[in-house]
Amino acid sequence: MNKTAVITGGGTGIGRAISLKLAEDGFNIAVNCLESLLPQAQAVAEECRARGVEAECFVADVSKFDACAEMVKAVQERFGSVDVLVNNAGITRDGLIARMSEDQYDSVVNVNQKGVFNMIRHVTPVMMKQRSGRIVSMASVSGLYGNAGQLNYSASKAAIVGMTKTAARELGGRGITVNAVAPGFIQTDMTAKLPQEARDAFLTVIPAKRGGRPEDVANVVYFLCSPDSDYVTGQVINVDGGMLM
Ligand code: NAP
Repeated sequence: MNKTAVITGGGTGIGRAISLKLAEDGFNIAVNCLESLLPQAQAVAEECRARGVEAECFVADVSKFDACAEMVKAVQERFGSVDVLVNNAGITRDGLIARMSEDQYDSVVNVNQKGVFNMIRHVTPVMMKQRSGRIVSMASVSGLYGNAGQLNYSASKAAIVGMTKTAARELGGRGITVNAVAPGFIQTDMTAKLPQEARDAFLTVIPAKRGGRPEDVANVVYFLCSPDSDYVTGQVINVDGGMLM
């Protein structure tokens, strides 16, 4: 029986690349998305099925505790197990501190930080029972080094690092590894929103002299979900072309 991977926000950008990479590796794929993104997520599920595995979309807002519980249950019923969780869903609501609204702060923390708690919370009993599992969460270089204009976002991504390390300590004895990936500047819808000057500025500080591709991140997630990384847990791996070291 194929193993099953749940990818939150799996219908676009980095999440789409991860869904396809894990499908190529033989995982059945649960593509999580918001209702508004269902057509794109369905297209990704179709691309996964074209790689010879089963794939289905699961609509849920990761910031909602009960919705995550229902989704994990539904994935388990549909595929029989939950072997991999990739916490990829994330949003930005950038702004300078002096002008940042409470809503800008709360919305980012609710999706990026609480969403990761919600999903880890609900897959953990399933994985503990299986005595195996892989959890990989999308942090960011912004959470490790800070980034002007992203107080909310960097707070949420730094929290993911802490949650990753705590979960790794708690779950290591149950055959569950917990790691994070910290992308730098990856060319997706999220970074397309940045002004051209900000995108040009990134390129000047990246030794690889190019922006990252979603596949660059997916390749590292794939490693963290493979048996080759059995002895890797509690780590944060930067995927940033050498931007920060
Ligand atoms: P993206 O294309 O905007 O992907 C984010 C996905 O999450 C979208 O499909 C989005 O759906 C979904 N999402 C948002 N809120 C959600 C919610 N409440 N419940 C379920 N899904 C939700 O951007 P990306 O660049 O691929 O980002 C993927 C992850 O990498 C994010 O966690 C991001 O913070 C992280 N990251 C990206 C970069 C970068 O340079 N691109 C750098 C560092 C970290 P909607 O489109 O409907 O909102």
